[in-house]
Amino acid sequence: MEFEALRSTLHRWYQQHKRSLPWRENVEPYAIWLSEIILQQTRVAQGLPYYERFLDRFPKIEQLADAPQEEVLKLWEGLGYYSRARNMQAAAQMVRDEFQGEFPSNYEDIKSLKGVGDYTAAAIASFAFDLPHAVLDGNVFRVLSRLTADETPINTGQGKKRFQRYADQFLDPEKPALHNQALMEFGALQCVPRNPNCLDCPLKSACLAYKLDKVEDLPQKKRKVYDKQRYLNYFHLLQEDKVLVEKREAGIWHGLYQFPLIETEGPVSWPELLEHLDEVHQQELINLKARKISLARHKLSHQSLHINVWYLNLSEPFTNAIFPESERRLEKELANLAFPRPLRKYLDENQLTLPLD
Ligand code: SF4
Repeated sequence: MEFEALRSTLHRWYQQHKRSLPWRENVEPYAIWLSEIILQQTRVAQGLPYYERFLDRFPKIEQLADAPQEEVLKLWEGLGYYSRARNMQAAAQMVRDEFQGEFPSNYEDIKSLKGVGDYTAAAIASFAFDLPHAVLDGNVFRVLSRLTADETPINTGQGKKRFQRYADQFLDPEKPALHNQALMEFGALQCVPRNPNCLDCPLKSACLAYKLDKVEDLPQKKRKVYDKQRYLNYFHLLQEDKVLVEKREAGIWHGLYQFPLIETEGPVSWPELLEHLDEVHQQELINLKARKISLARHKLSHQSLHINVWYLNLSEPFTNAIFPESERRLEKELANLAFPRPLRKYLDENQLTLPLD
């Protein structure tokens, strides 16, 4: 590959086709970092309003560091992968406490921040400080695997090393920020996963996958083992305007609120579900009619969640004895608490329409 000619073609393409995105106008490391964390596993259109809301509420990194975690999680609500928000606040606190409030300006220190891996560190180092670190995200993997027709699976250790080497060799050490942005944008707009318009591609003469008719086969991925299937049963217990909720203390939704939960091995009926309670509470609920509301299957990276909400409108006042970890809250307060995405969607769709029967 003629790297120099290829780079200039790529950079020219970028100047003509790049989208105007707010984090491209703002080269503050804090803003770049924020956009990179938000855009992990999130599409640009979905992430954009979150980016704007965060910068609006926390224009300076110290403000994010000092904010109550509940407020950060509430702002993040709907984006999923909540560990990103928790790590982001922990990293902001590291900047405040260990770097005297100044965002670190070299790769190693950037990478020492909580939640910042190789890709994010390279993106911040190059975009904010123009340091020569090559980024490797899904778009870059795809472009490089096609240009080189390399079939090494990209989701293996060997694949990561190999493609990082290609990315390092291809990087323009004079213009790392521009080069990285150009390669990522090229993958996002031109060398797209399905049916890229190769006939109209400025890099086609150098593209081995195009020559060998392997474009649709690349990049290669090693098949993952099956997703774990989990069955979550939430109890939406309402009495007048009170409802039971609990704050998660661990797991992917750590720090968020939810209804009391019983996880089962598979799908269950109401009587089968109640067998998981102690006898007193089982008898208390067994004759009541619960309405089962099944939510759409929720996919996470290594697991599929099958979620049922069991809705009960109780006429008798109740305590939290049935689920001691939970607390009674006014129903109207739920709007201010951060819930995992499927439960927030459930609340938005059902809260006002569930009849008091
Ligand atoms: S020719 Fe097709 S596969 Fe090759 S870089 Fe261009 S768009 Fe991607």
